[in-house]
Amino acid sequence: MEIKHDIHTHTTLSRCCYDPRATVGNYVRRAAEFGHKILGLSNHLWDEKVPGASGWYKNQMISYGLQQMDCVPADTCGVKVLCGTETEYYAMRDTLGMLAETAKQFDYVLVPHTHTHMRNFVMPDNDDTVAIKNIFTERISTALPELSADQVKKMVNALSYGEMDAMAANGTFRAPTVDMVDYCAKFMVNSFNSLMANSEFEKIARTVQTSVAHPFHPCGFSRDMQKKIIDAVPDDELRACFERAKALNVAIEINTGAFRFPENDYADEPFIRVMKIAKNVGCRFTFGTDTHSLAGMDNIRKGDDISRIVCITESDLADILK
Ligand SMILES: [Zn+2]
Ligand SMILES: [Zn+2]
Repeated sequence: MEIKHDIHTHTTLSRCCYDPRATVGNYVRRAAEFGHKILGLSNHLWDEKVPGASGWYKNQMISYGLQQMDCVPADTCGVKVLCGTETEYYAMRDTLGMLAETAKQFDYVLVPHTHTHMRNFVMPDNDDTVAIKNIFTERISTALPELSADQVKKMVNALSYGEMDAMAANGTFRAPTVDMVDYCAKFMVNSFNSLMANSEFEKIARTVQTSVAHPFHPCGFSRDMQKKIIDAVPDDELRACFERAKALNVAIEINTGAFRFPENDYADEPFIRVMKIAKNVGCRFTFGTDTHSLAGMDNIRKGDDISRIVCITESDLADILK
């Protein structure tokens, strides 16, 4: 099927977007060139009515995000432009970044459960990471007694998780006790299930079209590590998760940017198995590139092949796309 929509796009309003050409006007023009019927804008937003925003989300509030619609050109060349958002789910605290009452202002809401790059916010520190942080805390305090406990804590929190994971795996300080692949796979299943059970999320799903953004995509890991983690999630767990989404009328996103193994008609792509299970369960789908640049919109063409391989047809799309 030729995909004629893209409802996961970030413009320069998102703090992680660095392409000055990633404007609403340019996205609309590019969508028209593709022959898209629908373009959805989905900048990262945190509802100011929900306490607990991280520093990164602090200025990406609702009123700020709604400005995206002011930038839609008068002539959209036949493309319907939807006002969406990608909010947040802090699984560690079972906190959703938006109230249902606020969600009414949007045409749809994307909710991720795997922003695992936001460590210690979305995915909790594992035992090995905690041990390494403790070692650093102790040694920095001993070596630099002039520093306050707060200063030491800030230094320790500034350590890179990539480095800490490597130190844990190499046994730099002590033998590793955590299998990171298994840890992340279990985290993703748990965060999906706790999201589906979150009462505010249920309300949002009843209020506005909701789709799970990049389900089971462990953000912030290398391509090979991502494949290992996704492969480690068992079929029956995926099936149970997707059944819960279907029961809530929550769609599943085909995030074309997350499909990182396009070689040989996606023969090694771990997401094909995941999405076939979602399709067999009877979930509805939305497609999105998750682009943060104008050039990234081209990624939607991957969706044509993916829909063919997973056997997704027009009738499997979420109602908002019909
Ligand atoms: Zn995301
Ligand atoms: Zn996104």
